[in-house]
Amino acid sequence: MIDIIVDAGKCTGCGVCVRVCPKGPRIYRIVEKDGRKVAEVVDRSFCIGCTTCVVSCKPGAIRLERGW
Ligand code: SF4
Ligand code: SF4
Repeated sequence: MIDIIVDAGKCTGCGVCVRVCPKGPRIYRIVEKDGRKVAEVVDRSFCIGCTTCVVSCKPGAIRLERGW
């Protein structure tokens, strides 16, 4: 399974990852943490490793890793 790591320090909560991911809200949701919006991974098991989220995230907050 692929690990999806969101760097909360870089994430602006823009929601682009939710929109561009073919599995969208099954994988990502935007939550509020410490008064700011940030992307959270709901269920990484839906990820097909297409890397669309990684290349679409302007601040470069998403990283994929092989993980089981
Ligand atoms: S696209 Fe990047 S900056 Fe925008 S919400 Fe997703 S992880 Fe955060
Ligand atoms: S790699 Fe593709 S399927 Fe996986 S979270 Fe990113 S956009 Fe979604």
